[in-house]
Amino acid sequence: MSATAALLDRLGIAHLVTEGDIVSRSPIDGSRLGAVKAHSAAEVDAVLAQSAAAFKAWRTVPAPRRGELIRLFGEVLREHKADLGALVTLEAGKIVQEGLGEVQEMIDICDFAVGLSRQLHGLTIASERPRHRMVETWQPLGPVAIITAFNFPVAVWAWNAALALVCGDPVIWKPSEKTPLTALATQALFEKALARFGDAPEGLSQLLFGLREVGEQIAADPRVPLVSATGSTRMGREVAPVVAKRFGRSILELGGNNAMIVTPSADLRLAVRAILFAAVGTAGQRCTTLRRLIVHNDCYDKVVSAVKTAFAAIQPGDPRHAGTLMGPLIDKAAFDAVTKALDAAKAQGGTVHGGGRALADTFPDAWYAYPAIAEMPAQTEIVKHETFGPILYVLRYSDFEEAVAMQNDVPQGLSSSIITRDLLEAERFLAPDGSDCGIANVNMGPSGAEIGGAFGGEKETGGGRESGSDSWRQYMRRQTSAINYGTSLPLAQGIEFPE
Ligand code: NAD
Repeated sequence: MSATAALLDRLGIAHLVTEGDIVSRSPIDGSRLGAVKAHSAAEVDAVLAQSAAAFKAWRTVPAPRRGELIRLFGEVLREHKADLGALVTLEAGKIVQEGLGEVQEMIDICDFAVGLSRQLHGLTIASERPRHRMVETWQPLGPVAIITAFNFPVAVWAWNAALALVCGDPVIWKPSEKTPLTALATQALFEKALARFGDAPEGLSQLLFGLREVGEQIAADPRVPLVSATGSTRMGREVAPVVAKRFGRSILELGGNNAMIVTPSADLRLAVRAILFAAVGTAGQRCTTLRRLIVHNDCYDKVVSAVKTAFAAIQPGDPRHAGTLMGPLIDKAAFDAVTKALDAAKAQGGTVHGGGRALADTFPDAWYAYPAIAEMPAQTEIVKHETFGPILYVLRYSDFEEAVAMQNDVPQGLSSSIITRDLLEAERFLAPDGSDCGIANVNMGPSGAEIGGAFGGEKETGGGRESGSDSWRQYMRRQTSAINYGTSLPLAQGIEFPE
């Protein structure tokens, strides 16, 4: 048995990986890992009906009991962390540490959701009417569809699913067509947790494979009150109006174009380490990847020269090998997009260092790229566009306000950071007229969020928030109740209405 077959077997999905139209290829070497069948429109319909039926039962299960299912799922994930992490590496091309980190993120959100299952609290509100009180209760919402991107093939589902399930909502998952096997494995692990749990309704978590048509069908279906969609801004632009047209809700987690401001007082060693991880980690294929470096004139030469040296030392390589810091791009289209962006950067007055294809002889069917730095004369059109790969645009500034304005002057609003030892600058960056992003960090890079905070961004990033803080409320229906414990019927606003 090949190593891949053994891995799929340990994860309990070898028998499910068959012939089909959704083919999984490893970005490591382009080899075929397996295939699954796309669901037909009728099958999608049946899955949605099953989910609606599961909701009827699941919503009445006490929330702490629902939390028990997620506790068990966290336990199963701990048992299979190494294997699921290895499959993420194989199918998404992440380095070993990042594959494991992604599964850890799933475990972390399970822990968070278990605690939450005893804390889905509402409010008691004073009523203006005598012998009345008002309460606000959070009720389960209904089936939640989760559409995910290739670059976080399992964690993003878990962020949504763990919260949705403790909130009383069944989930339907449409994973990226590029990463079907990690989805299949996650579903198999979830089913293990279900078996340990015992009495959950059928169809609590279901998978739907397919291209965008499947996503479109889900988005249009009124049985799905919430669609949580992660992917490109293009996808969000298509999904959002379809969901809105039927007055459904959506959580949109779309493209980012994240910046870091490096100020004259910055600890430069810390800055360079933060830049390196944020810009080349996951081969520049994180929504929070550092894409724009805005450096003060006084330290520009020093910073750029250190970053160039650090980038030049990066050797893209097989992500399964310890020591590899940067693996492949997901496919040829991703590589072509990077090449096109670098050409545009040059045409728009930029000076490009690095870039180009790596390991073409060793892996002719895979797409490895050297990281590139593009020193730009200004924030030109290409800099304002998210290219999903390892390109770092570098820009100069002389005045702090100018740096903040530049940081904000892009259509996306996901993540941002500042490196400074100047307290006033740090606070100004976090002030109402500072960074306009959903995430604003100090003395670290823009990537690598923790699950305790709400995750998401503004503008073309879509405005959604997932994971920690009070994101759970989006998966529930808010109900306000006024309760009369007297014997008369006083009306609000003092309205008199004869009996
Ligand atoms: P993508 O938009 O190509 O696909 C994402 C998912 O949407 C896939 O499952 C795809 O099948 C589905 N889809 C595409 N068109 C659809 C439509 N019209 N209706 C319904 N579903 C549709 O994105 P990708 O290439 O897989 O991922 C990269 C992008 O995702 C980047 O832009 C990145 O910034 C973004 N991303 C954002 C976050 C975030 O939290 N903000 C996280 C991860 C990735």
